[in-house]
Amino acid sequence: MNAPEAFLQCRCGDCRITLCDPAVRYHVECLCSDCRQRGLISASKSPHNALPVEVANFARGIDVVYFANALIVDKSSQELLAFSKLTAGGIVTTATSTCCGTLMCFSHPLYEGTTISVSTDSCHVTTSSSLPLQAVVYVSDIPDEYAQTIIRCSAVPVISSVNEEPESPVIKALVRAVTTPISTHVRAAATTNFEKMCASKPLMFAFDRAHDYP
Ligand SMILES: [Zn+2]
Ligand SMILES: [Zn+2]
Repeated sequence: MNAPEAFLQCRCGDCRITLCDPAVRYHVECLCSDCRQRGLISASKSPHNALPVEVANFARGIDVVYFANALIVDKSSQELLAFSKLTAGGIVTTATSTCCGTLMCFSHPLYEGTTISVSTDSCHVTTSSSLPLQAVVYVSDIPDEYAQTIIRCSAVPVISSVNEEPESPVIKALVRAVTTPISTHVRAAATTNFEKMCASKPLMFAFDRAHDYP
């Protein structure tokens, strides 16, 4: 059997998550305030984790790709993972590497356990698969002057909010992609998934704050 070729790696290289399915399921840029907040929390842990300048300046969103939630993670990497939400009422769960504060991957109830999302602005992604950017989402979360520029210049659809535009073709495609069942052979290759790893650790909360977004 060939060695797995797709993996996520933290910035210092100590934490690695093998992706049993290398295929990118969807690709967006997310402008939501929670993605930004998670990026800022990561940045506070290491000078190497600063938000890219274009993200900091609202010139683009956080780059997010989605993969099947079928993983191989060895014991030492599992020990480095910490699981958190921004608040106790938060929806998104984040897996962070405690070695260097890299945002390794995320889970959202919308994914129904079949998908993880990954911020390529934080985590190093190695895969032979690629998918062009499909959409920019949550433009409603950024100051209007920057939002107007993105709406005017973007080559892909710009969505104000995923919740407010469920009938938009790109959001329908996003939901279809992130709820695609994991194939039998990929599932058989996996030794764990996001939820299994999360269940083995305490869940932490970054803030006492009211809401969260995909
Ligand atoms: Zn690390
Ligand atoms: Zn977001």
